[in-house]
Amino acid sequence: MADERVNLLGLPRTELEAFVASRLGAKPFRARQLMKWIYRRGAADFSSMSDLAQDFRAQLAEVAKISVPEIVTEQRSSDGTRKWMLRMDEVQGIETVYIPEPDRGTLCISSQVGCAMDCSFCATAQQGFNRNLSVAEIVGQVWLARRELDAGDPGGPNARITNIVLMGMGEPLANYSNVVPAMRVFTDDLGYDLSRRRVTLSTSGLVPQIYKLAEECNVALAVSLHAPNDALRNELVPINRKHPIDELLAACWHYIDKQNGRSITFEYVMLDGINDKPEHARQLARLLRGRPAKLNLIPFNGFPGTAYRRSPAAAILRFRDILNDNGVIATIRRTRGDDIDAACGQLAGKVTDRTLVRLGTRLNTVSRSSAEV
Ligand code: SAH
Repeated sequence: MADERVNLLGLPRTELEAFVASRLGAKPFRARQLMKWIYRRGAADFSSMSDLAQDFRAQLAEVAKISVPEIVTEQRSSDGTRKWMLRMDEVQGIETVYIPEPDRGTLCISSQVGCAMDCSFCATAQQGFNRNLSVAEIVGQVWLARRELDAGDPGGPNARITNIVLMGMGEPLANYSNVVPAMRVFTDDLGYDLSRRRVTLSTSGLVPQIYKLAEECNVALAVSLHAPNDALRNELVPINRKHPIDELLAACWHYIDKQNGRSITFEYVMLDGINDKPEHARQLARLLRGRPAKLNLIPFNGFPGTAYRRSPAAAILRFRDILNDNGVIATIRRTRGDDIDAACGQLAGKVTDRTLVRLGTRLNTVSRSSAEV
């Protein structure tokens, strides 16, 4: 018989309260107790919840469960980065990455099995797209990483998750209805209790969803810009053909106004000879100067089959300096975990592609030559 028990993992507080009231006739504080057990103490088993009455625990076990994805493999980088592959079903796998730094620990989580955005320089895009992750599968990545980190690690005994970034596999805003509840659990003080500035959603630029998010959520926003003009961005980030740069930036400034946020982080992958020329830096500065924007330059990370190369270090430094000289704050993202293919853009997981048409191919109307500045 099918398992009809409700998975409590990932249910935002209001939904958990409604669930305990309707299914168990219990008061809202029971939901709060449950959240503490699930998120603070990492419980996966009702029987361990010692401050709940025996009867209540038994009742719970009949209608509910706490079910987390299974870890298939773990890899550890020489720099302390850890990457887990999680099983989503018999064939599919997604990846989660923990990046320790002296002053913080960042967990990079996935939102989809694969990705349909088809960005030309991204390993996940090459895998195609299979499906959205559920709320439990998104929150489950944090739950599992916490368990693994708490289990003790000779490389970093005090490893903690201080920041969560939705920068793993997938386009989070294309899985809006599951990503938003998951972020509520990350910021809820009975959930992972992270401040809104420590949860970052990164998007390739789904403009309507950015407006929607501005109404409903206030996490930090990062936007994958990667090019200073539409011709080049159309080629690198195909969704640009639907939502060009001026629309995207208008949505970004709206988000900041609405959320009273500090700034948007724009991500910019440095591709040798493609988007790394001084002229590109000057164009970018014209777009972003005087705006609540920071630029994060990401040295390109290679993967099998790509024709792109990373810009030379000197070109990246020059690019940053031009931006800084033109009034735009730009920093260079340090590459982490590349020896285990855990760096930005390298997450591949295991994906059975179900896309019928690739966004980049379908919309490919811009020729290479016209895309150059
Ligand atoms: N789909 C979302 C979340 C992914 S975040 C988004 O596009 O923002 C991962 C970041 O790494 C994005 O900025 C992405 O564009 C960037 N990236 C992708 N492939 C890369 C590569 N090969 N090298 C460096 N950065 C890459």
